[in-house]
Amino acid sequence: MSAKLIKGTEIREQILEEIIAEVAEIKEKHGVVPGLVTILVGESPASISYVTLKIKTAHRVGFNEIQESQPDDLSEEALLGLIDKYNKDDAINGILVQLPLPKHIDEKKVLNAIDPDKDVDGFHPVNVGRLMIGGDEVKFPPCTPAGIQEMIVRAGVETSGAEVVVVGRSNIVGKPIANMMFQKAAGANSTVTVVHTRTKDLAAHCLRADILIVAAGVPGLVKPEWIKPGACVIDVGVNRIGEKISEKTGKKIAILSGDVDFDAAKEIAGYITPVPGGVGPMTITMLMKNTLKSLKFKLGII
Ligand code: NAP
Repeated sequence: MSAKLIKGTEIREQILEEIIAEVAEIKEKHGVVPGLVTILVGESPASISYVTLKIKTAHRVGFNEIQESQPDDLSEEALLGLIDKYNKDDAINGILVQLPLPKHIDEKKVLNAIDPDKDVDGFHPVNVGRLMIGGDEVKFPPCTPAGIQEMIVRAGVETSGAEVVVVGRSNIVGKPIANMMFQKAAGANSTVTVVHTRTKDLAAHCLRADILIVAAGVPGLVKPEWIKPGACVIDVGVNRIGEKISEKTGKKIAILSGDVDFDAAKEIAGYITPVPGGVGPMTITMLMKNTLKSLKFKLGII
């Protein structure tokens, strides 16, 4: 059996087209478009490339986009001042602070200073609490888990009553996706187990999963014999396992691998996400969706 590939690159295109159409409709009816500010402190190449991609995507979907590129030695007070300015700016619906921040800045303090109604990353404790309550309370589900759920639903995989096993319990992936999948809601209603480094028999838990979501950051952690035949396998892991020369640019690029032994797993699973090109492209896409949602909340149209 060869699994059906769930391609994040394809689902991203569908969702971005939906966002473009909605932005155009809101612009026509209400005369406004979503506003997103990206705040980058320092010049880490990885952060610059993430922010550049976010900016490019925001332009593509027709958002107003403001870039704040600040020096590495920006004080914590000055950064909090910037956040306060955008919290009060009516034209801004989403505030994104690129992480990690330089060591002299308290990341938690900064993220908690963002107005929860503009916290499109969904990391503010108020939004984490709203996610836990579920239903109408949820405003901004964190982007990677929201992307995972969207992929499962758009692939047509039944979640209601499904055994979901989540490998990993981080605040940005494991905990929120586990919480989202057991909610009494469409695309959820699953029975969820979360496993981690203290779990006694990882293989036995994974083997029970109708939907196996792996976010451990350990290349090849999940072996093919841990996968239930026909299961939906979502591989969140992004691990650099080497370097190669790009055929397109002639430059050195990273060789990436997921947490699942993909080649063997695809012969057993019913659905599987590739790495790269699986969950990865969904995160920025869901950031755009949250920013649009923020404007819709403000306009009272959702
Ligand atoms: P993290 O904060 O390092 O958490 C990893 C989790 O996996 C921890 O809960 C850890 O358990 C568990 N774990 C690690 N090794 C394990 C093992 N051998 N057996 C069982 N559990 C194990 O990682 P994260 O931020 O969630 O990211 C996980 C992976 O997803 C990384 O590869 C990351 O690059 C990728 N990621 C991708 C995206 C995207 O595609 N957009 C977004 C976010 C993350 P303990 O709690 O017991 O230590």
